[in-house]
Amino acid sequence: GNTHNNFKLNYSVDEEFPDLTKHNNHMAKVLTKEMYGKLRDKQTSTGFTLDDVIQTGVDNPGHPFIMTVGCVAGDEESYEVFKDLFDPVISDRHSGYKATDKHKTDLNFENLKGGDDLDPNYVLSSRVRTGRSIKGYALPPHNSRGERRAVEKLSVEALNSLDGEFKGKYYPLKSMTDAEQEQLIADHFLFDKPVSPLLLAAGMARDWPDARGIWHNENKTFLVWVNEEDHLRVISMQPGGNMKEVFKRFCVGLQRIEEIFKKHNHGFMWNEHLGFILTCPSNLGTGLRGGVHVKLPKLSTHAKFEEILTRLRLQKRGTGGVDTASVGGVFDISNADRIGSSEVDQVQCVVDGVKLMVEMEKKLE
Ligand code: ADP
Ligand code: MG
Repeated sequence: GNTHNNFKLNYSVDEEFPDLTKHNNHMAKVLTKEMYGKLRDKQTSTGFTLDDVIQTGVDNPGHPFIMTVGCVAGDEESYEVFKDLFDPVISDRHSGYKATDKHKTDLNFENLKGGDDLDPNYVLSSRVRTGRSIKGYALPPHNSRGERRAVEKLSVEALNSLDGEFKGKYYPLKSMTDAEQEQLIADHFLFDKPVSPLLLAAGMARDWPDARGIWHNENKTFLVWVNEEDHLRVISMQPGGNMKEVFKRFCVGLQRIEEIFKKHNHGFMWNEHLGFILTCPSNLGTGLRGGVHVKLPKLSTHAKFEEILTRLRLQKRGTGGVDTASVGGVFDISNADRIGSSEVDQVQCVVDGVKLMVEMEKKLE
């Protein structure tokens, strides 16, 4: 990170303030010179500074139409110490979520209505993921090599004690061949190589592939990414349109993981206001992205496609994940909201919205 904080303070706010004139991200929209001046000499107890928080957004101006976030947390404290910046970013990104609002958690899969019958002729696969950060460790933009390795070690130890349908094995990136890694990426199981400018500029690709890897059960329906954008990313997925089954496995698996961590005296970062605390402010709250790969060749070319997505509180991504293009009219459609509503609500929104979109697609044929 930016370790020359003292040196920097020899310069005035004007001399240090980043050029954000061509930027379109939430950070750039919110950060004023005055705010910069107020926050630039602060740091968290692990030494994360304002410049560390915003670097990814300075280096990545953003897309002309899609607002990126433009800032990250380096540790749990970041959201508190740099609150003046994060609160408006969070509000801007999460439809007006206020600094006084309280987040809701509901991981009881029985509260989901329906969701087991999305038409498999359109819905190719269903997936739910979230992130978890382990209390007491700096987050990926800021952790040290040793800290990152410790997160890997304690996570793998815990995950290895899962049993039944969750019994699995850890595959460190370091001991994978290129071909094995590429196959896992192509099959949508593994995070991409560190090519994302957001990941790179935020410092999350340092020491790659050291201490990164994927843990998964035998049939790759329950997977955990270690030390990518978050300490842990927990994923449940399977082919077809049974989102209910995917969500059930997600909830049960997550609960088992939490119990084992607790037994080993590890907890996850969480508070009443922010929900689960993760690296990117876009993931605060549930950290949940529930989505399907769905064939919408007709609807996706309709003039109202974007409006439909917005109204249904859904977002689209390409077939290969964030920042990729759609292949053959197949889109990754997932919940747009993460905070202020529960896990069940967010998956319900995807189930109901996707059902409607598939009906629309059929009508256009
Ligand atoms: P995340 O939000 O988990 O970081 P990304 O957009 O980075 O998601 O995508 C990660 C991988 O997950 C990509 O290979 C993507 O194609 C895959 N993926 C996302 N949603 C689905 C889905 N519903 N079915 C199959 N694969 C998916
Ligand atoms: Mg990602």
